[in-house]
Amino acid sequence: LEIKFIGTGSAVTSLKRFHSSFLINSENYRLLVDAGDGISKALLTRKIPYNSINGLLITHLHPDHFSGLALLIIQMKLFKRKRNLQIFVHKSLKDEVRNFLEKSYIFLDQLGFKLDLIGFKNDDEKIVHKNLTFLARNNSHLKSYEKFDKNRLSFSCSSFLFKENEKNLFYTGDIGSRKDLNIFSDHKLNFIISEITHIKLEDILKAFTKLKFQKLIFTHISDNDSQKISDFFRGLSPQNRKRILAAKDGYSFKV
Ligand SMILES: [Zn+2]
Repeated sequence: LEIKFIGTGSAVTSLKRFHSSFLINSENYRLLVDAGDGISKALLTRKIPYNSINGLLITHLHPDHFSGLALLIIQMKLFKRKRNLQIFVHKSLKDEVRNFLEKSYIFLDQLGFKLDLIGFKNDDEKIVHKNLTFLARNNSHLKSYEKFDKNRLSFSCSSFLFKENEKNLFYTGDIGSRKDLNIFSDHKLNFIISEITHIKLEDILKAFTKLKFQKLIFTHISDNDSQKISDFFRGLSPQNRKRILAAKDGYSFKV
């Protein structure tokens, strides 16, 4: 399992980082996690051909994670895609994603390739490809919105546990509180990717420090975070300094 960061930025648009997104490569299947604003240009920058991507996974519908989707699908069509595209999204968001595409004049039966919109449920292990699976659990990132419009919109935002054979990767996604870091505490975690915008770095360390994780990688980083990151790393033990790092666009590692 290889992970490559396409973007490591926060919702604040930056000249140094694209919005948060990474690519999982498992036995020649490429799954892109999130497709926020600017994702097509981010992939171009990393020299990832659009049509080498087999599947997309959308964590939630904030624009820094989602709003590049329509233009990315247009790129795939313009580059004469033939192979199927899978889009994994929480089942409560399926209709909203389909509507968003249709309102961008993307009609699923006119693409020239098959687009499978696949809904996932909480705690229902989904097979992506061969040995690659994921487990999604709803977190509290969008909970504060529920008071605005509970009837019409879904406020689903998920955290994920990706698995391939015996190895796993926990991706926090965008979270709402410290508690969300413990969402998969019933699993042994090998690798962890944590966002750092909605949580203190010290709290991330506290949540995972007892675990025997191999690597903890920070993402969702704004330009203003550089001071807090360097202060944090200065306070780390030599052992933790070896296994904790802040990702940059293009950084990749093997699970
Ligand atoms: Zn975000």
